[in-house]
Amino acid sequence: MRCPFCDFDDTKVIDSRLVAEGGQVRRRRECLSCSERFTTYESAELLMPKVIKTDGSREPFDEEKLRSGIRKALEKRPVSVERIEAEISDLKRRLQATGEREVHSRDVGEQVMEALKALDHVAYVRFASVYRSFQDLDEFRAEIDRLSAEPGGVDLKGSVDLKKL
Ligand SMILES: [Zn+2]
Repeated sequence: MRCPFCDFDDTKVIDSRLVAEGGQVRRRRECLSCSERFTTYESAELLMPKVIKTDGSREPFDEEKLRSGIRKALEKRPVSVERIEAEISDLKRRLQATGEREVHSRDVGEQVMEALKALDHVAYVRFASVYRSFQDLDEFRAEIDRLSAEPGGVDLKGSVDLKKL
């Protein structure tokens, strides 16, 4: 750790304690050269990969954007906030677990679809109709038919306006 006062490249830790309910370590440091003291905070780094958009530009992973998209897809659906938040946490963990620094927005979309599929089929189809470019309309209809035919499945045909696709 470089001294922020004289730029010397070594300091000693004179005090170390847990803060933020154990989520952070606060360290009091002293420069070995100029003896100035300063504080550092250390916490686990849970870096989300940057998102590569379809135009090739990069943007930071935006959890709120993700959350509002998922909520929108789940509008008026019988899914609790707790389940939604649990899926969002899982989704973030999956993205972090890839170890990639960048992820294509399309892959994020696929992850969102997986999450929605687990939560609610209607929401899944709503989202899929926007984010997944099915090979053709027949393929998309087939997916709707398949989901509708599943045990406990709901009639999805009325919930999506196929003409708009
Ligand atoms: Zn110094």
